[in-house]
Amino acid sequence: MESSDKPVLRLVGGHTGLDLVNTVEPRVPGAVPEKEHLKTPLDLLLWAERAGVVEPEEVSDILSVWHGEQALAAVLGIREAVYAVLLTRMDDERSTAPLQPALEQLSTRYAAAVARAALTPSVDSPTAARLRIGDVAPFAVQDRLAALAVDLLTTENIDDLRACPLDEGGCGWLFVDRSRNHSRRWCSMDDCGARVKARRLTDRRRGRQLPPNSAIVES
Ligand SMILES: [Zn+2]
Repeated sequence: MESSDKPVLRLVGGHTGLDLVNTVEPRVPGAVPEKEHLKTPLDLLLWAERAGVVEPEEVSDILSVWHGEQALAAVLGIREAVYAVLLTRMDDERSTAPLQPALEQLSTRYAAAVARAALTPSVDSPTAARLRIGDVAPFAVQDRLAALAVDLLTTENIDDLRACPLDEGGCGWLFVDRSRNHSRRWCSMDDCGARVKARRLTDRRRGRQLPPNSAIVES
């Protein structure tokens, strides 16, 4: 629909809730991001489609019935609450966000999503019924993301979560480290990892110290 000239936002979090957190670049606690990928309701809907939150055939239905600005505000609230909770739980000393208000906000969003949920007969599983959250089109995006946020916070092991290291030139995005030896450092080796490595190489070739924002690497 739009944005063919924009670079495609990478989905590297390993959980859609983390990909939502990673819709700003860079992810610096307490700072206004240089790049906000969810500026308009349409940005949100297109991202939700790319992230698999909504099916392509649902997009036009949702677009015709939702209150886009309200949905965007709800989703940004969910995003920042998830980030605040994760930063605190990941024991990041830069986080000053109190945990409880963020959890209460997520509880409220999740409760609203569940209030709109419906039990339907299960046709493709051995259970009798399944709970469908996010089937009410005007609220579909925010309700599904509220459910995904709760899933992220209640099922992922906090010890597996990492932030792409800002103090080494990374972007601060969060991801699940599913590597065998728990050694993944970068959101993506094709992006931050390669960029930082290339810069270090250039700095070495020039025989200079690393730039100030990478100085921690030296310690
Ligand atoms: Zn990164």
